[in-house]
Amino acid sequence: MREYELKMLPWNVVFGAGQLATLPTRLAELGFARALILTTPEQAADGERLVSLLGDLAAGLFTGARMHVPVEVAKRAEQAAIACAADCTVSLGGGSTTGLGKALAARAGLPLIAIPTTYAGSEMTNIWGLTEGGRKHTNRDLAVLPRLTLYDPELTVGLPPAIAGPSGMNALAQATVNAMDRRANPVIHAMALQAIGAIAQALPKVMAKPDDLDARSDMLYGASLAGASLGAGVTSLHHRLCHTLGGSYDTPHAETHTVLLPYSVAYNAGAVPDLMAQIASALGAATAAGGIYDLSRRLGLPTALSDIGIRVDDLPRIAELATATAVANPRPVTPDSVLALLREAHAGRRPAA
Ligand code: NAD
Repeated sequence: MREYELKMLPWNVVFGAGQLATLPTRLAELGFARALILTTPEQAADGERLVSLLGDLAAGLFTGARMHVPVEVAKRAEQAAIACAADCTVSLGGGSTTGLGKALAARAGLPLIAIPTTYAGSEMTNIWGLTEGGRKHTNRDLAVLPRLTLYDPELTVGLPPAIAGPSGMNALAQATVNAMDRRANPVIHAMALQAIGAIAQALPKVMAKPDDLDARSDMLYGASLAGASLGAGVTSLHHRLCHTLGGSYDTPHAETHTVLLPYSVAYNAGAVPDLMAQIASALGAATAAGGIYDLSRRLGLPTALSDIGIRVDDLPRIAELATATAVANPRPVTPDSVLALLREAHAGRRPAA
């Protein structure tokens, strides 16, 4: 018999091609008058265009967002916000830029409006992080959830396949981790399975034909639902391993999720066979882990830890670091079982499960 608790997050989402044009009206409706626009250096020109669109509602532009929110970057952005008397930030970009906006919300109390241009899904979660002294610390805090998330698939058309592929697999990981964990309630499972289906269908099309706006729209929808399932749901061994690799071995964020996901799923296959069958069905594959591995191969993405700079000699220490403190996971976690998972992932062998 079913038994669960349901606590969702107070999301406020607008989704649709061309929606960017409505941002000035929406900002004014929310009562904001002086927005600091945030971008990476690579998206500075997009930031300039947003400043033009917002006119008097734009108080400034900060183009220094960086991966994993270095504390120095957050401090410089805070100074920029004070200098232009900003009453909110508008992040235009991927998870790195959204992450900077979240850090300003947490540290300086500045409300965030998020305009995502990748599939990171961070805008739907209450998770924020800051990197200081080479270590990234993450927390959950409702204050960092955007007041408004505006998804406009037209803004993702320029996202090159080399970034879109791993970013899409990062989204798939958020959904899959929640679809295979009984701690996530049935409503989250439903969102996660919907996300898995949308991503499995849309990501190959996005990579084969980047200007296919329907596929871009479906992929962004999947990424949004995946982020929502992570935001209202759980993390487990998969995220612990990605965090360990990114934090201690500086592996690239989205590619690390891409490589590890099939092995994290295979690790849990025997523990939750009924949930695995649902995931496989959403993927349109015979098995969950094998289906995800095959998708990665088909898209030409990295499938082995050796592809992202990890040496076989590193594996025992990674297993030790990842299991130093307890981690909740569908199948119990031990240093030896994690080492076995890492060996499979290092070799890049197709999981049988
Ligand atoms: P990213 O934000 O670093 O973007 C990668 C590059 O792509 C950047 O140069 C960016 O400017 C560029 N780019 C973004 N959109 C583009 C577009 N449409 N066209 C052309 N170029 C574009 O990468 P990401 O994978 O989106 O985010 C990774 C970061 O997000 C990591 O720090 C990760 O920890 C964080 N993250 C956080 C959460 C959370 O819930 N807090 C969830 C997922 C990811």
